[in-house]
Amino acid sequence: MAEDAVTGRCNCGAVSWRIAGSPLAVAACHCTNCRAQSGAAFSVNIVAKSREVTVDGPITTFEDKATASGQPVLRQFCGQCGSPIQSVITANPAVVAIKAGTADEPGNYAPTIHVWTQSKLPWVDIPDNVPSFARDVG
Ligand SMILES: [Zn+2]
Ligand SMILES: [Zn+2]
Repeated sequence: MAEDAVTGRCNCGAVSWRIAGSPLAVAACHCTNCRAQSGAAFSVNIVAKSREVTVDGPITTFEDKATASGQPVLRQFCGQCGSPIQSVITANPAVVAIKAGTADEPGNYAPTIHVWTQSKLPWVDIPDNVPSFARDVG
């Protein structure tokens, strides 16, 4: 029977994750922290309710204190292969941001919003029909 859960895993497979419900949004983040952590031009994140997310495996946490809010972001990655898995925003613990590139079906999660476009790389084009914000939402 089909289920709505979203699942994914790191590059080596030691860490897997599951979202029991529907994602709230897919946010492309162009902030400098996400860029450095992801190693890509920007980070694509599936935003989900924390209580609906389970992560299994050898997670390592980097406490990222250099944030705009001053509240740390816990950047969690596979301790074996280093794939970024999720970010826990301590200023807003009700939601987590899961790295969409680790989803089993990443093609399903086109960004629905772009944030921190003030630090976007000049060669990245954002489609006109997708909301974008210079900084964070709100
Ligand atoms: Zn791994
Ligand atoms: Zn970011």
